[in-house]
Amino acid sequence: MSKSADVVVVGAGVAGLVAARELVRAGKEVLVLEARDRVGGRLLNEDLLDGVPIEMGGQWVGPGQDRVLGLIAELGLSTFPTHVVGQNIGEFGGTRSVYTGRIPKMNPLALADIGQAQLRLDRVARAVAERAPWLAPQADRLDGQTFATWMNRHAYTPTGRAFLRLITEAVFAAEPEDISALWAAFYVGAAGGLDALINTEGGAQQDRVVGGTQRIAQRLAEQLGERVVLDAPVTDLTWGDGGLEVSAGRTVVSAKRAVIAVPPPLAARIRYRPGLPGGRDQLVQRMPMGRVIKINVAYSEPFWRAQGFNGQANSDRRPFGTVFDNTPPDGTPGVLVGFFEGKHADSASRLDPEARRAQVLTDLVGYFGPAAAQPIAYLERDWAEEEYSRGCYGAFATPSTLTRFGPALREPIGPLHWAGTETATRWAGYIDGAVESGERAAGEVLVALERNRAAVD
Ligand SMILES: Cc1cc2nc3c(=O)[nH]c(=O)nc-3n(C[C@H](O)[C@H](O)[C@H](O)COP(=O)(O)OP(=O)(O)OC[C@H]3O[C@@H](n4cnc5c(N)ncnc54)[C@H](O)[C@@H]3O)c2cc1C
Repeated sequence: MSKSADVVVVGAGVAGLVAARELVRAGKEVLVLEARDRVGGRLLNEDLLDGVPIEMGGQWVGPGQDRVLGLIAELGLSTFPTHVVGQNIGEFGGTRSVYTGRIPKMNPLALADIGQAQLRLDRVARAVAERAPWLAPQADRLDGQTFATWMNRHAYTPTGRAFLRLITEAVFAAEPEDISALWAAFYVGAAGGLDALINTEGGAQQDRVVGGTQRIAQRLAEQLGERVVLDAPVTDLTWGDGGLEVSAGRTVVSAKRAVIAVPPPLAARIRYRPGLPGGRDQLVQRMPMGRVIKINVAYSEPFWRAQGFNGQANSDRRPFGTVFDNTPPDGTPGVLVGFFEGKHADSASRLDPEARRAQVLTDLVGYFGPAAAQPIAYLERDWAEEEYSRGCYGAFATPSTLTRFGPALREPIGPLHWAGTETATRWAGYIDGAVESGERAAGEVLVALERNRAAVD
């Protein structure tokens, strides 16, 4: 089936759908080709119990994420706060503590160590986020080391280091040894500081979307109607000065421009003719996805609340190291959500499903007591197994990637424009970053189309 459009968008995640919407608003003919049989990409609602949708992908939004918050309001959706009333559970350096506020109880030396390391990280992150990270004053030094090297140099106590490792796993879904220290600093700076990334109240985990975040993508797709084509994995993109041809199975689309709104490792799996410049290909070879298995566990009621807990638990010794209360806004059923991240996801993925579930329940019992052993429903998703995501929460840069190839992240190549949360300058890796990237790519395309039109006139 041959079609034509002004612009083809590859991928119906938030980035692609936002780009398409902006282009349609500007009067352009647009087609969105989506590999899966659904829209939303890394946003996915599933039924935990009949009629109880729960997010198996991205779910939280928070202050400072103005683009996604604006979009949610514009689409007629609403948010509600993550449950925070009660005490947190923290297990660090061999000590279990129950505490309110954001600081776990731990030995004062470790606390002071974490405080000073965070101050340093926030300072360096601010400097990196002020411009493109590869232009930052310390860019070469930071990009020449992993975040683990940076961490071990600037955190002095074993507990301080273990805490920073847990945070790295929770934020990047990767190990500190995997990530460039420059990427880590950029990511923290792009969110406005470490507290903004890790906090629930006042931070990125503050609010949820009523009915689940996939609704954002579904509403955008409803507005685009038949312009969104599902089950259309793009395999080939042939381009030249005159435009391009995009092949997705039996669907072939001719267009003037394309927005490729898929994560970098997946953009690398499309065949481009002519092949892309070496710098762009080297970049995407060096940006792997993080790894997460996300699990929602339902109980007839949120029993932990009656015990004085808010459902938030963190541990540097359990594989299921990060847990939150994920109960729907009406209070039933009780839901706990947690994550196997980074190397814990590697190990958990090697277990058979029964053994993995047993591991999850063992850790939940460890945090919240025996009532956690009796769930009424259990849902898990291993994002590395998803053919069209291959991991999450997002892609990250390995050492010496941004300083050598960083500009290729967003720079258009002929008629090809790049979107996706990994290309954002604010809240990269988050839904908010996906919105920014879609708006930016659409703006670039409109300028280019106008330039071409002026040249023809
Ligand atoms: C478990 C999990 C938890 C997360 N938690 C949060 C959170 O709490 N808050 C937050 O803000 N963010 C969170 N994120 C990250 C957030 O979901 C992403 O940043 C955001 O959804 C990315 O949107 P995107 O459009 O850039 O990419 P994607 O959503 O990945 O969209 C890319 C689309 O392209 C499609 N595609 C891929 N290859 C092809 C191809 N060859 N042809 C056609 N289509 C293709 C994919 O199917 C997909 O639909 C989480 C993600 C996960 C998975």
